Amino acid sequence: MPDEQPFRPLTSYLIRKTTMWASICTLLLATVQGWLSYQTVTERSLARLEQVALAQAPAYAEAIWWVDIVSVRLMLEGLRRTTDIGYAEIREPSNYATTSNKREYRVAVQDGDPRCKDRCASTTAPLLRNGLQEPIGELFLTIDPRLVYLEVGRTVAAVLISSALSTCLLLVVVILVLKRDLQRPLTRLSRFVNDLAAAELTQKLDLQRPPRRHQDEIDQVDEGFQLLQGRLAQHIQTLEEKVADRTAHLAQALAELQTLSTTDALTSCRNRLYFSQQLGTEIQRAQRYQRPLSVVFCDIDHFKQVNDLHGHAAGDQLLKATGQLLRGELRVSADWVARYGGEEFVLVLPETALSDAIALAERIRRHIAEGPGIRLPDGNALKRTMSFGVAEFAADETESALLQRADHLLYEAKRGGRNRVCAAAPVVA
Ligand code: GH3
Ligand code: MG
Ligand code: MG
Repeated sequence: MPDEQPFRPLTSYLIRKTTMWASICTLLLATVQGWLSYQTVTERSLARLEQVALAQAPAYAEAIWWVDIVSVRLMLEGLRRTTDIGYAEIREPSNYATTSNKREYRVAVQDGDPRCKDRCASTTAPLLRNGLQEPIGELFLTIDPRLVYLEVGRTVAAVLISSALSTCLLLVVVILVLKRDLQRPLTRLSRFVNDLAAAELTQKLDLQRPPRRHQDEIDQVDEGFQLLQGRLAQHIQTLEEKVADRTAHLAQALAELQTLSTTDALTSCRNRLYFSQQLGTEIQRAQRYQRPLSVVFCDIDHFKQVNDLHGHAAGDQLLKATGQLLRGELRVSADWVARYGGEEFVLVLPETALSDAIALAERIRRHIAEGPGIRLPDGNALKRTMSFGVAEFAADETESALLQRADHLLYEAKRGGRNRVCAAAPVVA
């Protein structure tokens, strides 16, 4: 819901609309009832007036005949006061002397409000006298408008009051029903949805509705929402599983990539890059904990001849076999071997003092020198010896100084006739 739109409860909107339309209907009903009542009252009064006029006409004819105006006036006044007559008059012909066929009358005596003559329904009764063919006058009566208005007013008031009462009663029932069956459940639902956190998706929605025999739209919304909750939770669960699966795959791929990026493709030993990165760490550890650390440079003797005599593939095979042999001679947990370049390898031996490193190098040298060598595809055995330069890391020595010493010792071994181990104790400054 947009923030700028103010909140208006649905219940109060429905109540306002119901009230408005009930009021309009009540007014329409009152108008129709008032009009019908007006018609009925007018007709009834007029019928009564006609009866009165017919009944009273002979007495008035007699009085007029005898020109007893005072009596006529008194009779007229009495007649008007005792019945629902608004205005009464006695008319007498005004053209006795003329020969005109059209009879004209003038008012002889009148009583009541003359405005009723134009506004109200009226009746006229001829004043006849025995023996005369023509009437000697007319009795003119109108109904009393106050009676009509009173009657119509009562009817309208009755309609308004009864409609207002029934509307009020209806509204009370509608309000109670709306509040109980619509407003409360919807408010609970909206609060529940607003407060629902992603981690609590399985939390159960309880609208606290009283038990009913039938379902309604709120129940359907409730069911639909619970269905949505279940699907969302399932979707999130699936997503989490997928993410965990992908993360595991990625971690595995990353580990493989790291291994590949630090492994020499031909010999499966560590590569030069790994050696450069890792040796510094080994030296730091040895310095910090004051533990021994040795490195052994080893180089295949006369390797070039292998390539020259047996081909490059045979040289590769020998390199591969040498790498495998070197790895097999080391402690798996701590020691590691890297291909330093070409046919040259370097053993890194943490927690190993010079004497142990020399012993290891000697063991490997003997193993290679006395071993059967490798079998070439043409059936010939290929055998080469290796030379070793062993150096132990001296405190405060730099990494390059250590490597230089080991390399120099390897050079010494080569110069001394190959297939040998050369070592020197750390140089203490
Ligand atoms: P020395 O006893 O003095 O070490 O002599 P050497 O022949 O072993 O050493 P030299 O440095 O003269 O020759 C090394 C040769 O190794 C040269 C190069 O062609 C060869 N080589 C370097 N890398 C590889 C490789 O990956 N595969 C093969 N097959 N040969 C390689
Ligand atoms: Mg060599
Ligand atoms: Mg070499």
